[in-house]
Amino acid sequence: MSVKYDFLIVGTGLYGAVFAHQANEAGKTCLIIDKRSHIAGNIYTEKVEDIHVHRYGAHIFHTANQEVWKFVNRFADFNRYTNSPLANYDGEIYNLPFNMNTFNKLWGVTTPDEAKKIIEQQREKSYVENPQNLEEQAISLVGNEIYEKLIRGYTEKQWGRPCTELPAFIIRRLPVRFTYDNNYFDDPYQGIPVGGYTAMVERMIDGIEVKLDTDYLENKTYWDSLADKVVYTGPVDAYFDYCFGVLEYRSLRFETEVLNTDNYQGNAVVNFTDRETPYTRIIEHKHFDFGNQDKTIITREYSVEWKLGDEPYYPINDEKNNAQYERYKTLAEQENSVIFGGRLGEYKYYNMDKIVETALRKAAEVLSSQ
Ligand code: UDP
Repeated sequence: MSVKYDFLIVGTGLYGAVFAHQANEAGKTCLIIDKRSHIAGNIYTEKVEDIHVHRYGAHIFHTANQEVWKFVNRFADFNRYTNSPLANYDGEIYNLPFNMNTFNKLWGVTTPDEAKKIIEQQREKSYVENPQNLEEQAISLVGNEIYEKLIRGYTEKQWGRPCTELPAFIIRRLPVRFTYDNNYFDDPYQGIPVGGYTAMVERMIDGIEVKLDTDYLENKTYWDSLADKVVYTGPVDAYFDYCFGVLEYRSLRFETEVLNTDNYQGNAVVNFTDRETPYTRIIEHKHFDFGNQDKTIITREYSVEWKLGDEPYYPINDEKNNAQYERYKTLAEQENSVIFGGRLGEYKYYNMDKIVETALRKAAEVLSSQ
């Protein structure tokens, strides 16, 4: 019996869409299925009041990889949006990432040397040779005052754990700069697709059959029988029926409101870095696109404890979960006709560009060996 498709792709998120595109372009037949009622996974954007709303949280595309940048630009024009979030600490506004504007507001210093001196003094008080957790890492990068005002509350809200129990690498995502540069990312390429992410993904998978509202794991044997190979972008532990236990995530809850004002907070992203404010940030979607609509839409983002059945957002890449993932990975490697990819399939806190990069690489590898 010959199967109907070369590839069954489970999930229309960025990994699935990129892989499907490459396979389709190479002349392979693909079927994409997704359990949600829309495409594009968590980068899904939806137009409300003529504003592109990032339904599953803010997504800003940035990369240092020219190949990745060229690739995504085939499916969308990118605008000039540069992420420069603000931190609101008890009503005080600071620039992020930590840079000369932040240091000036905090300490009144105007030169890099003055700022470095203050950070150095603070670091000396709590110096540790090899930072073992996020708290130690943060203090050794920016001293204890920035840690207390701009890092601790936000991070503990976001992860629901004390900073002393979080891995150091999370905070290394953030640059520390001694220039007056509010660009959150160091990458040379950055922007938001004009027309939204959904339209970008739509173009990527143009011409490929898609079935929505379709849960692969509910009827796995049937779906497997349709294709030579499966690209699975769902949670890796769910695929193996949680045989080594449940991998943990953080989840998010969004409260979105349409407001009768044209400008609510003057910036796309404002982080609330104190402990008391229950949400971590407010997103004002129109500012991602420099919109001048009469109304505005804001989303308050709450970080919530995840339990099985909730939407997984952030893998908790601590030692315990990583060790558990390694066991799943060993099983995954034995599934010869299944490719595991994406944030959930590889249980990694990937940015979008890494997803594109890994999907392109995997597709090239698989397609060349066929
Ligand atoms: N972070 C912080 N204060 C902030 C913003 C970020 O301490 O105002 C730290 C925090 O530890 C967080 C990490 O940087 O977990 C990454 O945050 P980011 O908002 O960049 O993550 P995203 O949700 O955008 O992937």
